[in-house]
Amino acid sequence: MENKMIYFDHAATTPVKPEVVEEMMPYYTNKFGNASSIYSIGRESKKAIEEARERVAKALGAMTREIFFTGSGSEADNWAIKGVAYSNKDRGNHIITTAIEHHAVLHTCQYLESDGFEVTYLPVDENGLVSVEQVRKAIKPNTILITIMFANNEIGTIQPIAEIGKIAKENNIYFHTDAVQAIGSIPVNVNELNVDLLSLSAHKFYGPKGVGALYIRKGVKITTFLHGGAQERGRRASTENVPGIVGLGKAIELATENLEQYNKKLIDLRDRTIEEITKKVPFIKLNGDRYKRLPGNVNFSFEFIEGESLLLMLDMKGIAASSGSACTSGSLDPSHVLLAIGLSHEIAHGSLRISFGDENTHEDVDYLMEVLPLIVERLREMSPLYEKVKRGN
Ligand SMILES: *Cc1c(COP(=O)(O)O)cnc(C)c1O
Repeated sequence: MENKMIYFDHAATTPVKPEVVEEMMPYYTNKFGNASSIYSIGRESKKAIEEARERVAKALGAMTREIFFTGSGSEADNWAIKGVAYSNKDRGNHIITTAIEHHAVLHTCQYLESDGFEVTYLPVDENGLVSVEQVRKAIKPNTILITIMFANNEIGTIQPIAEIGKIAKENNIYFHTDAVQAIGSIPVNVNELNVDLLSLSAHKFYGPKGVGALYIRKGVKITTFLHGGAQERGRRASTENVPGIVGLGKAIELATENLEQYNKKLIDLRDRTIEEITKKVPFIKLNGDRYKRLPGNVNFSFEFIEGESLLLMLDMKGIAASSGSACTSGSLDPSHVLLAIGLSHEIAHGSLRISFGDENTHEDVDYLMEVLPLIVERLREMSPLYEKVKRGN
């Protein structure tokens, strides 16, 4: 067991499925043509891109011409928000978002604030849920965009996207959702949800890294993001990442086909882990909503310990997990998401995210439950505060 690596960080990234790699491979080698060329191997690339576009459109209930490939989920978020903001300046300069967005959204909004836009960062409750009523109340005559994530990458909380979409539509305001964590876990239909723009990223659902897509509802006013070529109907210049796009198409098809079965398995692993940690480890707190939660997400705070030390000790035992989001590790600031749900700095620092995926088994959870309580106890023994609490009992 000691030598096997158990990967519990699927919210950070996933391995590419063999079937996906297989479809991508020819586009690196014999089918390497530039999709803008008119000879046959160029046309083959073009055709492969359009087939991938159809697969994405089908997965979202959208039209193919509403799907635009990007270089990542972050790029899709940047394009959606800056693109709508700059293109609709004549109508207003106010944007509504939440305090728990991914940094690709939050930092983009902060950038826009430095350029004359006004942003409302809605708070969330202790489970990470945004209130639909507060969204409604935040709307002003100059509001042009609401951008609220579908599901949170750290604590897994799923937002009431359909209700927010309804409000946006009633008020004639564009609605963007960062659905990077939702695709492959939650059924998404852009029309039923009244979503105008939606971001996704292939590497979060067993596709390759460095490729994403933005759904842009027909008629939405949005500026071109990358200038320089006619690719993506003139709206996103760059020679297309053909193998990546082909991989995204295959991955989203697989992810949406097997969604129910996949979720059932993940929910099983998740609920068992939540139950057992709750039973076996004292002084803990489950972060995120217990039920409105991504199927594969577990996030706990452990009092009296540092998340980083916990991760290192788990790593020594062959377990890869995360404390909050990959982008925040490496910095000492506690996660903005954990602070927004009301955790103190100390408690936020002692958090662990376990995100399950396709390869995980009940044996993996058995092993985790064998080592985690011992590691937590050992780390706590180094805490003078914990000693005091223990003596007090
Ligand atoms: C991973 C992630 C992103 C960024 O996607 P990249 O393709 O890695 O740039 C954006 N939003 C959320 C919620 C994510 O989980």
